Amino acid sequence: MDESKAFPFFLSSPSDGNTQTEQERKEEQKKYKESCDKYILSGLNRNVTIEFLMEKLIGMGCEPPKGFMKCIDCGDKKAGAGFGVVEETVLPPSTSVDKDSISMEKFKREAKDRKKRQCQNEATLQDLQKQIKAQNEGKVNLRLLPEIFLCQQHLVNEDHAHQSIVHELIHAIDLCRSKMDPINNCIHMACTEIRAENLSGECGAVREMINGRTSLQGFRGHGAECVKRRAVLSVEANPNCTEKAKDYVDAAFERCFKDTFPFDRHPNLR
Ligand SMILES: [Zn+2]
Repeated sequence: MDESKAFPFFLSSPSDGNTQTEQERKEEQKKYKESCDKYILSGLNRNVTIEFLMEKLIGMGCEPPKGFMKCIDCGDKKAGAGFGVVEETVLPPSTSVDKDSISMEKFKREAKDRKKRQCQNEATLQDLQKQIKAQNEGKVNLRLLPEIFLCQQHLVNEDHAHQSIVHELIHAIDLCRSKMDPINNCIHMACTEIRAENLSGECGAVREMINGRTSLQGFRGHGAECVKRRAVLSVEANPNCTEKAKDYVDAAFERCFKDTFPFDRHPNLR
């Protein structure tokens, strides 16, 4: 089984090289989408953890918008799921930028193209890198909007889908309860990834043993190690945080691993 890591708030670029015809691919994706949609419904109606987290979100004043959870075709991207849409607001040009109105027009056009790709679930890592650069130059503001994606073709089964939903719901809870800014603040990002990995049960004994990463004897303390390893992978996916991902996770670990909100204690899903 591959390590399907949950990407934080964007999906990396698709790659070519498949031998399927477009028609075959479409039919296959239709089937994946049907089961994925069913997993979402069963999660919302029968999974107590998902129901609990959804109720918490509403209780905290963050009622999920319509279409909050979506099944999408993630192509070859190795993600199981993702959270958040990067909203890019182009700021009014300051006087210095104004002198160069041609490049500003070009920039606005590019921003519009990025938005279009995002709406079609085709946003690339390069798009995010450009957005971050533009923000550093004072041209745009970036904000994370809550939205959960499930990569329909990478869901192994219903349990896996529900686990992924719980993971992403923890991000939604964190975004709701604080002014979390995971795009720009790598410690925030590390913290929410640690919590999502820990509380979703993705590092539960069964899953880890299937992955061949542990044995029954060696299990004690393995949960923390697994949470750390997976959190680092997720933090690395944010271009702002890639280089020092491990340091950020180490710095946030003790505090965020203990933090089981909104559960009273670790839900021990496995
Ligand atoms: Zn995550």
